[in-house]
Formats: sequence, C-alpha cells, structure tokens
Amino acid sequence: MTNQVYIDGSLVPSEEASVSVFDHGLLYGDGVFEGIRVYGGNVFLLAEHVDRLYQSAQAIRLEIPLDRQQMIDAVGETVRANQIDDGYVRLVVTRGSGTLGLDIRKTANPVVIIIADTITLYPAELYENGMPLVTASTIRNHPGALNPRIKSLNYLNNILAKIEGTDAGFVEALMLNHKGEVAECTGDNVFIITDGLVRTPPTESGILEGLTRNSVISLAREAGYEVRETALVRHDIYTAQECFLTGTAAEVIAVVSLDGRTIGNGSPGPITQDLMARFRQLTRE
Ligand code: PMP
Repeated sequence: MTNQVYIDGSLVPSEEASVSVFDHGLLYGDGVFEGIRVYGGNVFLLAEHVDRLYQSAQAIRLEIPLDRQQMIDAVGETVRANQIDDGYVRLVVTRGSGTLGLDIRKTANPVVIIIADTITLYPAELYENGMPLVTASTIRNHPGALNPRIKSLNYLNNILAKIEGTDAGFVEALMLNHKGEVAECTGDNVFIITDGLVRTPPTESGILEGLTRNSVISLAREAGYEVRETALVRHDIYTAQECFLTGTAAEVIAVVSLDGRTIGNGSPGPITQDLMARFRQLTRE
C-alpha cells in the first residue's frame, strides 16, 4: 500500500508530498517536530506530544495553523489511513516559505506534515545485553543559545555528536553540557541507579524533557523507587550500579559501559530490567 502523508490538511501519496525549496524549515532548520509511537493502534502519549510541539512552537514564535484537537485528530486520521498498528509518527511544522533571509515576518503559511511509518529499533541483542556508550566531545547546545527543550528542526548539534559515536563504533553517544555535567544522549535521556536510588539530570542541565523519561519517572515512583532529578557528572555514571536510556524510539534500554568503564557487573541491572518490564506493560496493555 502507498504510504499516505498528511500535508497542509490533506492526505496524499508519499511521492506527492513535498515542500517548497523556499521553506524556512529547509533553509534554516526553522520549525519544530515530534516523534511519537503507536502501540496496538493507539498513539502513545499523543496529548503530551502535541503539548510539547505547541510549547516548542511557542518558544520560537511559530503559529501552528491547527488547534491542539485538530492536530490530535489529524494524527489519528493519518495513522488509520496507513493502517499502522505498531509504528512511529513524525509530526513536523515548518515555518513555511518566504524570501531568503532570517526574518520570520517574511514567511507565510507554516506547513504541517504528519508521516506514519514503521520503525527500526536498536538491534534486539542490545535490549538483551545492554549497550556500550561513549562520550562525544561535542557539547549539548548551551541553553542560552538554543534551549534543548525546544524540539526544533535544527538537530545538527545532536548529529555532530552522533557522528562521533558512530565513527567510534557506538550506536549512541553521551553529551555533556557547557558546565561539563551529563546532559543526555543524542536522542535519548539518561538515568543511573545506585543503592536503589534512581537519578536523572534535571531540565536545567540542558536536556530535552523526554516524555519517555517522564513516564519512566512516574513508573519508578509508583514501583516505590526513589527518583531524583539532579545534576550528574560522568564519574556518577562510571561508578553507578546501573544505567539506562529512555526515548520514544529506544523505549528503555540498559547501558553497560561508558568510555570503556564497565557499569555495575556489565549486564542490565535488576531495577533497569524491572522498569523495562513495567514500561513494556504500560505500552502493550
Ligand atoms: N533527547 C533528545 C535530544 C531527543 O531527541 C529525544 C527524542 N528522540 C529524547 C531525548 C527522548 O525524548 P522522548 O522520550 O520524548 O522521545
């Protein structure tokens, strides 16, 4: 079946879905996006993703030409049109096309694009055995320059760190902030566990406030674990008993080493496995 893409209010075959070369989303990375999972035909945390999209848009003074309910309906319509049962939705809003130059007043008609597709996860073996990580030398965007809380179309900061990771033979890389603290990975948030205490960097450390992160924090608290959002340095990860990442695409995945330092006993820890199981239950039931 041809993939149907939502663009500017209609569903069109993917080959026919296109934007102008003068769109500032293309010219300057001027726009916002979300990545959302579909589990068993249900769009997971849809309202939360739509809220974050509108917050990102608000921060860059982008007016989305749909209200939140219309956006939610459009996502549902696109998922159904593509008969996606388990998959991934990419929601994009560009600044729209305009003359060359940065001035947002010279653009018109932001474009809303919704793509519903399947998704490739990390290899199954990494979910079983955990993944090794390496620290990238590229630091996360300074929040005073481009706040990582804005999920913007300009992902070069993360891409540069990802290149370092893949060059070194890793599937993910850890990014530090301008103060040398742990921020997050290129597309995932990071958690550590020591003596039953679950810790993750706060938004002030310069991270995207991941919705999977927030969901796992709630699950962990419900399960009776203490969770603290607190600044971390690499030493905390090197010496932690467990470490894991969260993300829409990644879900929950264990980390078993950082920069060649084995974390815990080098295999997914018991609390990580418990949280992985709880997250699976939440999303699959
Ligand atoms: N950090 C970054 C930089 C991301 O791009 C993402 C999303 N892929 C995340 C963290 C995880 O956020 P979420 O759980 O909302 O997908």
